[in-house]
Amino acid sequence: MTIAVWGYTDEYESERSEILQAVDTVFRSGRLVLGEQVSGFEDAFAAYHGLAHGTGVGNGTDALVLALRALGVGPGDEVVTVANTAAPTVVAIDSVGAVPVFVDVHPDTYLMDVSAVADAVTERTRCLLPVHLYGQCVDMEPLMAVAEEHGLPVLEDCAQAHGARRHGVVAGARGNAAAFSFYPTKVLGAYGDAGAVITGSDDVQAALRRLRYYGMEQRYYVVSTPGYNTRLDEVQAAILRRKLDRLDGYIARRREIAARYAEGFAGTDLVLPAVAPGNDHVYYLYVVRHPQRDRIIKELHSYGIELNISYPWPVHTMAGFEHLGYAPGSLPVTEETAGQIFSLPMYPSLPRESQDRVIEALRTVMAEL
Ligand SMILES: *Cc1c(COP(=O)(O)O)cnc(C)c1O
Repeated sequence: MTIAVWGYTDEYESERSEILQAVDTVFRSGRLVLGEQVSGFEDAFAAYHGLAHGTGVGNGTDALVLALRALGVGPGDEVVTVANTAAPTVVAIDSVGAVPVFVDVHPDTYLMDVSAVADAVTERTRCLLPVHLYGQCVDMEPLMAVAEEHGLPVLEDCAQAHGARRHGVVAGARGNAAAFSFYPTKVLGAYGDAGAVITGSDDVQAALRRLRYYGMEQRYYVVSTPGYNTRLDEVQAAILRRKLDRLDGYIARRREIAARYAEGFAGTDLVLPAVAPGNDHVYYLYVVRHPQRDRIIKELHSYGIELNISYPWPVHTMAGFEHLGYAPGSLPVTEETAGQIFSLPMYPSLPRESQDRVIEALRTVMAEL
């Protein structure tokens, strides 16, 4: 039996009656679009973060696009972010006409090197966009200080960090807005595409609602700038409402698996995930590092174990972002990291025997390198 990096079918079996009941509730309600499941989930999800407002949208990329526009980011504006992220972070910046400006990442956590942000700010900077990658938070306190000093809004990309905390503050609660994806693999995953933006600001919220709904405040009349049609689906919202109650339980399971991996690989030369002081990691991904990464992946494949790389190409090295003009070597830590990192199977319902097989096989392969 192949062990995949991610799977949902075991989880579905154990939650099946609850999920089917949620779906049935929607289908019997007589309301299929922007009904009480969406508004109920939006309220609950915002409340989980201690914020007033949530807006459900079609996916995480749209959440970023709408949040950027609601924060006033537009053509020619610069947005400071990282190149070690899922491409959609940068695709979203590009699609509002703004220009991504990359800072390098920290060599231990692979997260935004916040000490480089102040130097990246110019008079055209309109937003700071930290990505809480892999499941732990960027060093937010100094980042918020830079934002305050320059009067810049902060948009948190929380697509990989549902429920992660830093000094007790949950990811998404510090910035002016936070974008989430509920793509099925994420820590809080739907059964299809889904996303949301949360904010504490009434103005940002009003803009988000217009942008989600073609640019309308009421039916058939576009008020200011034209927006989009990107709605969280009622069915996905109904499922997410049930799953939100289980979020802390999913996170606890991920932490148990991470602890077993850490124990299993102790004493090997595999570089394990470093948790920054003050962070509570939710292990969306369990990212390790080894100079012979490509060989390890190939060998593990012959043991029936799939590994993944998140991400093999830093965004600034992709052909689609050539126009940004970053030469090879311009983000040295990001580029070196990308050649060595890989992720182990990680999801709440990953069986204990599979964890053991991963540990044993990887230890065997590394001993023979
Ligand atoms: C998944 C992800 C996104 C995009 O979310 P989609 O729902 O796939 O559009 C954005 N940023 C990060 C960091 C992600 O991991």
